[in-house]
Amino acid sequence: MTAQAPLDTGQWTGAEHIEIVERFVAHNYHPLPIVVARADGVWVEDADGKRYMDMLAAYSAVNFGHCHPELIAVAREQLERVTLTSRAFHNDQLGPMSQALAKLCGMDAILPMNTGAEGVETALKTARKWGYKIKGVPDGRAKIICCENNFHGRTTTVISFSTDPQCRDGFGPFTPGFEIIPFGDIDALRGAIDANTVAFLVEPIQGEAGIVVPPDGYLKQVRDLCRERNVLFIADEIQSGLGRTGHTFCCDHESVKPDIFILGKALGGGIMPISAIASSREILSVFHPGDHGSTFGGNPLACAVARKVIEILETDRYQSNAREQGDYLFANLRELKSDKIREIRGRGLWVGIELHAAAGTARQYCEQLMGMGMLCKDTHEQVIRLAPPLCISRTEIDWALERLTDVLA
Ligand SMILES: *Cc1c(COP(=O)(O)O)cnc(C)c1O
Repeated sequence: MTAQAPLDTGQWTGAEHIEIVERFVAHNYHPLPIVVARADGVWVEDADGKRYMDMLAAYSAVNFGHCHPELIAVAREQLERVTLTSRAFHNDQLGPMSQALAKLCGMDAILPMNTGAEGVETALKTARKWGYKIKGVPDGRAKIICCENNFHGRTTTVISFSTDPQCRDGFGPFTPGFEIIPFGDIDALRGAIDANTVAFLVEPIQGEAGIVVPPDGYLKQVRDLCRERNVLFIADEIQSGLGRTGHTFCCDHESVKPDIFILGKALGGGIMPISAIASSREILSVFHPGDHGSTFGGNPLACAVARKVIEILETDRYQSNAREQGDYLFANLRELKSDKIREIRGRGLWVGIELHAAAGTARQYCEQLMGMGMLCKDTHEQVIRLAPPLCISRTEIDWALERLTDVLA
């Protein structure tokens, strides 16, 4: 972790970095005032040499911990072989990665992209085309059902079905063809499906909404209803998938397989952006050369890292640690006697602590925790979100619990 000369900005203080970002970067985020300069496992170090525990893990993109040695090693090796070919040619990483990912998902095939939002766009395009070419929906009439308080990314089409006014304000006109129903309400879904409905897009646990877990049995009911009505069930597992909830997929908790998985974030091991949809050969057969694509989609560097990510997931090591440490974390949080806490929600190592309005904003608590050496992020004013790297140990959980107890009890 020694800085090499060309990368070294060690002569700048954290405050100077923040000032320069304020001046030269658009203000589309409001980060905590910490400047990370290096990281290892669950720990990060700021520009001034202070250490913090990372309880956000880049919104679950760093599920296996910062600078995971095996992931760094394959990335470094691939860097020196070939990094980009575009899909105009084949490369020797895309095939093996796709085979392994399809197997992990229990699916026939995948379509690789880069960011999560692109993965979602790809799933929406797949569903519409499937609707027209296979289901027989009249041209231009396809309807896709989504949930209130969803988060699926930031592109113009994806924000078209956001219910968060800030995500949409000033960005219209929007893409038509979406209907919004309440999350976790199977009757609402039954009522919304009509002859032109091609898909239901849902997060198995709503992340950005504040780690909202649907009622038990919901995903199974969704599965059955979608099958019965010939509607594609699309599970956005970009944040919930790849170990976070204690299983490879959040859908595994109800032993459910959607028609389309959307993956991203942790698939790139926190090193490269890579996303993908995974589905059946029949559904993916709607694509023909030239229909859809991406210059960087399926690039050999990202694929090499993703191959190793999949290999790591096949051991169940991180999923089982998420189950074990997650159960311990939840049990201890539930013991916390605090009149500030309204509800504790989540699964595995994915926790939302919702505060009463009178207790102040979650942001205030995150700032306080940062002062104590622990980084987490508020979501929606009242929810403190905890999502540490899945390699976190019992001792480190205890360390975090001490600090949470200090600020909440
Ligand atoms: C993060 C996220 C996305 C968008 O991913 P980006 O890589 O930021 O485009 C989509 N869906 C869910 C559930 C997410 O958590």
